[in-house]
Amino acid sequence: MSSPQSPRSSYSQRTNGNDSDEDCYVPRTPRRTPMACTFCRGRKLKCDGRSVCANCNKRGIPCTYVPVSGQR
Ligand SMILES: [Zn+2]
Ligand SMILES: [Zn+2]
Repeated sequence: MSSPQSPRSSYSQRTNGNDSDEDCYVPRTPRRTPMACTFCRGRKLKCDGRSVCANCNKRGIPCTYVPVSGQR
């Protein structure tokens, strides 16, 4: 009386590896170009766009920004 029960536990269900590549397409958002301060604009320097840009901060001059308006 020896009946070794061998439960068939052969779960060999292959999961379909459908790794669909999710295209993380980032829509282009038109970034507003940082406004250059009057000093950088006059000297055509690269302005940081900060309250006090590096150029003005280095020279210790007041950094002022003139809002562009009426340009159409
Ligand atoms: Zn500047
Ligand atoms: Zn500045």
